[in-house]
Amino acid sequence: MGSITLQNVSKSFGEAAVIPSIDLQINDGEFVVFVGPSGCGKSTLLRLIAGLEDVSGGRILIDGVDATAKPPSQRGLAMVFQSYALYPHMSVRSNIGFPLKMAGMDKAEIDRKVADAARILNLTDYLDRKPRQLSGGQRQRVAIGRAIVRSPECFLFDEPLSNLDAALRVNMRLEISQLHQQLNATSIYVTHDQVEAMTMADKIVVLNRGRIEQVGSPLELYHKPANLFVAGFIGSPK
Ligand code: ADP
Ligand code: MG
Repeated sequence: MGSITLQNVSKSFGEAAVIPSIDLQINDGEFVVFVGPSGCGKSTLLRLIAGLEDVSGGRILIDGVDATAKPPSQRGLAMVFQSYALYPHMSVRSNIGFPLKMAGMDKAEIDRKVADAARILNLTDYLDRKPRQLSGGQRQRVAIGRAIVRSPECFLFDEPLSNLDAALRVNMRLEISQLHQQLNATSIYVTHDQVEAMTMADKIVVLNRGRIEQVGSPLELYHKPANLFVAGFIGSPK
């Protein structure tokens, strides 16, 4: 379970129609990458799906059920941001367990779920550290840990690796792909980096000025770009 359907979804901020109208089907278990230049509306689209912004028009279905009016907490999604957004004064254990504490879960159960997440992410030895005592990659893992403790059906990643150096980025790409498979999740991953898109995606959605230029597998986009924009964007290094 974890399909997402966008029907005629639009978003305006005041007079500016940032997303004029988008239709998109994301299937259960897919790793979908939204790619496109800075300012094209990738984060806005992800925030609409997460429920962090209200749509101006259209509908969002999750597992076939209209979720357009549901608050973020009831959508079964977990978002991982570009900035780690960890609490600096809290231990790794408390950072990962925070969403569960907010949800009122009892301490023993929180400890168990945090331990499970830490095992999956190789953070077991770091649970008592503070974020500043961790490397960049470890911090990003803690942020992912905070998303997976809630056992979401779908992960939403907004440029999660853009603050990391190149070598670490390559490792974390692999880790995120493996995690996606291990958890049987559906993932939507936003990036402006076409290498990330080409190496991680089952399906790439190329966005430009709030519109979809093309949807396809990495190979389809590479061999049969729909237009010059897609060809230029997929073909040229950044
Ligand atoms: P991307 O993530 O692809 O870089 P964004 O979704 O952040 O793009 O932004 C798309 C456009 O929407 C940009 O022109 C941005 O300035 C505008 N925008 C995003 N959020 C807001 C907001 N809260 N108020 C007004 N304009 C916004
Ligand atoms: Mg963005």
